[in-house]
Amino acid sequence: MNYQVLLYYHYTTIEDPAVFSAEHLAFCKEIGLKGRILVANEGINGTVSGTIEQTEAYMEKMKSDPLFEGIVFKIDAVESHAFKKMHVRPRPELVNLGLEEDVNPHELTGRYLSPEQFMKELQDENTVVLDVRNTYEYDVGHFRGAIRPEVQNFRDTPQWVRENRELFEGKNVLTYCTGGIRCEKFSGWMKREGFGDVGQLHGGVATYSKDPATKGQLWDGQMYVFDERLTVPINQVEHVVVGRDHFDGTPCERYINCANPECNKQVLASEENEAKHLGGCTIECTKHERNRYIVRNGLSEQQVEEAIALLEA
Ligand SMILES: [Zn+2]
Repeated sequence: MNYQVLLYYHYTTIEDPAVFSAEHLAFCKEIGLKGRILVANEGINGTVSGTIEQTEAYMEKMKSDPLFEGIVFKIDAVESHAFKKMHVRPRPELVNLGLEEDVNPHELTGRYLSPEQFMKELQDENTVVLDVRNTYEYDVGHFRGAIRPEVQNFRDTPQWVRENRELFEGKNVLTYCTGGIRCEKFSGWMKREGFGDVGQLHGGVATYSKDPATKGQLWDGQMYVFDERLTVPINQVEHVVVGRDHFDGTPCERYINCANPECNKQVLASEENEAKHLGGCTIECTKHERNRYIVRNGLSEQQVEEAIALLEA
């Protein structure tokens, strides 16, 4: 384990995100990092990988910059880079809630809960816990009993909450996300909407999983991450599989990208079902003329025809 993955964000004011991004990219490349960093007027959000020396150099530089005073890095030990390239991109905002009026977490946000406090409140009868990630993230792992908003995109979650107010009214509402960045805004937005008691898991599930008091307990499944690992374990005490195979609904924690390059959807699938469907998430995707599974496995035309005939039988 000579490499590390860093996950971090910091709400601050970056005057010129485009200029900052260009300079930051040059620095990251110079030290040999790989990963994805978003820069906006409201701050920075990144996940990068590198050797221990490279990642330490990066953290040192960030921590010494007054702009990022108080920045917290979540660190995972890994065996190699978790990204292929280095991107730093300016964006209008770090988190898109699809709101008419944005939320500034420095002005309005939910109560910050330590992992231990979060775990305690999670078990309270009057608590409801809301997952503020995408549904495909929820599906491979989540807190036990957490509400899964029925939305295609995270930015549609506020509207969904408005339509389902009764689930949250009069309750102690807890929110959580991967690293904490989405909750900062989302919990603030919920308070603005009039939900009284809203708490957020400070540092996200990434912090909760390593906390010596919680050991990731009450988390079922794995956690989806935005790098080549795809998922990481969270609960150090017990492992309950909640993921279900896209094709047959059996327990599964193996992500694949749909072989149709124009679809590229991430679904859970066993090796066997991936082979049976030639990597396509639907029959249309299986039949796509640039199906990557067929190319990767060097399948003959006859093999492809036979597989499709079986699927259509
Ligand atoms: Zn597809």
